[in-house]
Amino acid sequence: MPKNQNEKTAIMNPREKIKNIVLVRNYINGKWIESSGTESIDVINPANKELIAKCPLGRKEDVDNAVIAAKEAYKSWRQTPVIDRVQILFRLKTLLEKHSEDLAKICTQENGKTLIESRGDVRRGIQMVETACGMPTLLMGKSLEDIASGIDSQAIKRPLGVFAAITPFNFPPMVPFWFWPFAIACGNTFILKPSERVPLTQIRVFELIEEAGMPKGVINLVNGSKEVVNSLCSHPDIAGISFVGSTPVAKHVYQTAASYGKRVQALGGAKNFMVVLLDANMDLAVKTVFESCTGCAGQRCLAGSVILCVGDVYTKFQEGIIKKAKEAVVGDGLDPAVNIGPVISEEARTRVKGLIQSAADEGAKILLDGRKEADNLNGYFLRPTVISEVNKNMRIAKEEIFGPVICLAKVETFDEAIGWLNSSEYGNTASLFTSSGSAARKFSYEVDPSMIGINIGVPAPMSFFSFGGTKASFFGDVKVHGQASVDFYTDTKVTIARWIKDSSIW
Ligand code: NAD
Repeated sequence: MPKNQNEKTAIMNPREKIKNIVLVRNYINGKWIESSGTESIDVINPANKELIAKCPLGRKEDVDNAVIAAKEAYKSWRQTPVIDRVQILFRLKTLLEKHSEDLAKICTQENGKTLIESRGDVRRGIQMVETACGMPTLLMGKSLEDIASGIDSQAIKRPLGVFAAITPFNFPPMVPFWFWPFAIACGNTFILKPSERVPLTQIRVFELIEEAGMPKGVINLVNGSKEVVNSLCSHPDIAGISFVGSTPVAKHVYQTAASYGKRVQALGGAKNFMVVLLDANMDLAVKTVFESCTGCAGQRCLAGSVILCVGDVYTKFQEGIIKKAKEAVVGDGLDPAVNIGPVISEEARTRVKGLIQSAADEGAKILLDGRKEADNLNGYFLRPTVISEVNKNMRIAKEEIFGPVICLAKVETFDEAIGWLNSSEYGNTASLFTSSGSAARKFSYEVDPSMIGINIGVPAPMSFFSFGGTKASFFGDVKVHGQASVDFYTDTKVTIARWIKDSSIW
């Protein structure tokens, strides 16, 4: 990026455009500044393939500068009373409400999801801020008098310094909010690295953070990809890393950051199974399963993928799903009539098409092929695909699809369904459709995944609960948001005190 005198003032503008293309900036120490990276990646609107921004691939130098700012800010921020720290979050909540439609539109433009889905994405983000506003209560420690005669003990939760988060493309507003509001409300300072494929929503969020009166350096934004991630993971002055993304990168971040002695929570990919029993409310099951598998074009870590139909439920369920799939309107998410937007890129579309082909090659039946019909749309679209006769050894039954594909499989018994889903390498979520309480209890008790839906298709825990899976879907032990985030972002310090009576005073 050229640096001449004329552009110096423009550097302060977070959304400077040249020929309608946003040049993405970093936000470090309370200032919008140019990245030191000389390379950038194109940010494309996936609904029409238009180039909308250039995201710089930041360098180690950008991370170093952000850490210096965050470390300096930490000195006074940690001494700011928690009740004052959360006032900024209260103000931010009001600003987010005011600008929520604007944020949702930016999200749809860069990610492709429908406006309704983007509104939900923003809403979930705002709820994180609301929950973090309760930090004066969440942060309270414990104490006990007379742990031994005349000796008292107290445990307080104190911040640790600078934390960082690395986030994925699929929830541009929400996922960053899983982390930083909790971290800074605890008294830490923060660096966010959003996905280089969707940098624009966070630019707008950071403008609002600035407007809310956040002191400089408390939260910093560094755009980029691998070099930024690896620099964050190895930086000696960063206390911990939160990551969300695909399993191979989650594992890499977990191992690298842990090898540098950091706290790490790394959320990875998923393969989510949904079990339908004969006693389920069939209309609800069909509607909910379809929405789970195809909502956000299938690009949710909680998206349903393989539907295990127990016994005679198969035929009826399959008919219902095909009807729903045929009715789906695919197109630009800004159009209110549309219910499925595009996938993020041509590369993603090619990968999903390849997985569909692998199922056909391995003997499954493609009942509805969403690949062909979407080809005449000018965007990275896929219509919903319905595949039947899937078995557990097929690639499509094992790998994360991240596209609007519904795989149907017939199993003879409920136990067989549970055995199959527990054999997956992933453990994010699982859902059951039934009207039986005892079946629901058995399911919750026996399945491996950590987020369970009973007649629910996307069982995403709310901001005041904690979120995260198990197995290859989660590396670490302390989960995200809710009370768990307070544990992740603080150290518990225990003081044991004995005061000897001074007879000269009383
Ligand atoms: P991704 O792994 O490609 O990217 C995630 C982040 O990692 C980005 O910020 C990216 O810049 C960085 N990154 C990518 N490759 C890297 C590398 N080689 N070295 C260092 N950093 C790298 O993931 P994505 O495609 O953006 O997101 C989709 C994935 O995220 C899916 O697998 C989905 O299941 C997962 N996800 C999981 C959850 C969850 O809660 N478990 C939530 C949302 C998304």
